[in-house]
Amino acid sequence: MGKRSDILLIYTGGTIGMIKDYETGALRAFNFDKLLKRIPELSHLDCNIKTVSFDDPIDSSNMNPEYWILIAGIIEDNYDAFDGFVVLHGSDTMSYTGAALSFMLENLTKPVILTGSQLPIGDLRTDAKENLITSIQIAALREKGKPKVAEVCLYFEYKLYRANRTTKINAEHFEAFASLNYPPLAESGVHLKINDEHLLVPNRRKKFQVHKELDNNIAVIRLFPGINEAVLSGIFETPGLKAVIVETYGAGNAPTEEWFRVLVEKAVKKGIFVVNVTQCSGGSVLMGKYETSTHLRKMGVINGKNITTEAAIAKLMYLLGCKINKKAFKTVFETPLRGELH
Ligand code: ASP
Repeated sequence: MGKRSDILLIYTGGTIGMIKDYETGALRAFNFDKLLKRIPELSHLDCNIKTVSFDDPIDSSNMNPEYWILIAGIIEDNYDAFDGFVVLHGSDTMSYTGAALSFMLENLTKPVILTGSQLPIGDLRTDAKENLITSIQIAALREKGKPKVAEVCLYFEYKLYRANRTTKINAEHFEAFASLNYPPLAESGVHLKINDEHLLVPNRRKKFQVHKELDNNIAVIRLFPGINEAVLSGIFETPGLKAVIVETYGAGNAPTEEWFRVLVEKAVKKGIFVVNVTQCSGGSVLMGKYETSTHLRKMGVINGKNITTEAAIAKLMYLLGCKINKKAFKTVFETPLRGELH
């Protein structure tokens, strides 16, 4: 029998860690030390669990790059002592955090699984227990003495996803996330089915590295019919702006009107990186398929392929933080670094 896995549970906040005060009916943050008591099932798992909590747990709507650095730092400090990490996080911005961590943690050889819930752990109908227990089980899985999963994942409602492929699609259903451009890494039913062929294969010879430089001088513009030149040029003229994600229509299409072309072209010439990401939830940018995207390709707009907006934001912050060569930027962005696009 192999050794029991050591799992570190990192509590950042969110609904999962709240309990209902049955007197007042209000949700309040949970004393995390009591977690093991509240979920006796955790002691039946075949692993050792330690917990660490944010001093002031947050609603994930307050998430920001400083907290990402904090989470990445906790993982870095505990990397050698643990076999896997489970991050409890509010669902609202979980996909952004998952994507950011995927870039910040380079050459990961252990699982980092984000999870949360739509109902608090103390609620009778909660989805928190299953999400938490299965996340820990997956984080503890080993094969030939090595962790089975070696990437940043998101587990929710019976499915394990590559975190940087996910989007929150529902504010109400237990099935709150979707990964439309990449299949689930695992599915939990009567059996836990791991889809080996979809897992990232780590290079164990490369050294684990944590990147903590993130540059948020970026903007996201979602196109809509009637988008206004003055507003758009205001955004492109923002002092310090380094990159813009344009959420385009369908397969990466945008207006061919003169003012729009000139604006984007001027920005690209000025050295602002412009990334084409489709506003459709599934499918890919295919620059040049329609005349309405050929102009973007000619201008040197970066092809976001089938990346999500969440992952594009994280990748831009990461790459700008790495200060990679301006000439190489487009190629590097268009290359999958953590399985985030293809
Ligand atoms: N507003 C909460 C949060 O994201 C919702 C949740 O936990 O699911 O922190």
